[in-house]
Amino acid sequence: MQTELQNQWQQVLARDARQDGRFVFAVRTTGIYCRPSCPSRRPRRDSVEFFADPRTAERAGYRACLRCKPTEIPAQAQYVTRARQLLDNAEGVMTLAQLSKRVGLSPFHLQRLFKRATGLSPREYQSARRMQQVKTELRKGGDVTTALYEAGFSSPSRLYENSTQQLGMTPGAYRRGGAGATIAFSIVPTPLGRMLVAATERGLCAARFGDSVTGLERDFRAEFHAANLYRDDAAMRRYVEPLLANLRGDGTTIDLPLDVRATAFQKKVWESLQQIPRGETRSYSEVAREIGEPDAVRAVASACASNPVALAVPCHRVVRSDGDLAGYRWGVERKKKLLQQERANS
Ligand SMILES: [Zn+2]
Repeated sequence: MQTELQNQWQQVLARDARQDGRFVFAVRTTGIYCRPSCPSRRPRRDSVEFFADPRTAERAGYRACLRCKPTEIPAQAQYVTRARQLLDNAEGVMTLAQLSKRVGLSPFHLQRLFKRATGLSPREYQSARRMQQVKTELRKGGDVTTALYEAGFSSPSRLYENSTQQLGMTPGAYRRGGAGATIAFSIVPTPLGRMLVAATERGLCAARFGDSVTGLERDFRAEFHAANLYRDDAAMRRYVEPLLANLRGDGTTIDLPLDVRATAFQKKVWESLQQIPRGETRSYSEVAREIGEPDAVRAVASACASNPVALAVPCHRVVRSDGDLAGYRWGVERKKKLLQQERANS
């Protein structure tokens, strides 16, 4: 695969020691093969070949580099490499017990080595990989259900159990009133009035519309009275720009980290809203069914009404089953305009 080779070449250029044991690179002009982190001078790209391991490189006629000694990769790294290969190629979910049996190391040791090398437990690693697949599918325009099944989730609720962190919604780190948080904010003009955008160092924590700068700022300060608040238009640009682009209709998805306080239920609802494609709407009961709580229609409606981050969680895409727009936290007129604009642009 082309991209795989490009990655490997980048890793060789970066002398990335984490790749040691995952592959070796060989140089045609010298007949020598090295581990990715070898300190020697980098050859030209077109004289390099990649091999999965020293054995295949030697079979192709290459000799091991005396400097980086690619055959002496610590046994520990080899266990981790083997485990990653197994997980990457596994059909379904592999338990730690199954994995450790295949690798030939006790579950305890494997877990520890794996975590040290990758920063994740084998279970987290698998779930991260599957989330990656879901995101890729969705970006390609696939529908949620297909993406889920192709990534090996047995049901949508399994996705929600996994998605808390990986869809970018971290549980709000701050307590009520914003105690313990440092929050930057900015207020900008938009076609829908003024928009206040605020973020902690972990992610977007508020995006809301209002008619006046003073009113927006006063309400915001009252709500986050215990936080260390400061206005910083420059720093907030990385949050403001994607939201404005989305409003203009040329940012189709908003991929911002969120730092919002939420109950488990609210989180489920908000993440489900993030899957509604631009230009479409869902009814409250459809969302309730989607999250596996078909009877919780009213709770879904109130979770929509309590959304702290306009646009990033597109609660404006939920309407009544009869097509009535129902309410919007920032005024039903704004909801109407948003939906008209999204329909026109998609
Ligand atoms: Zn070398």
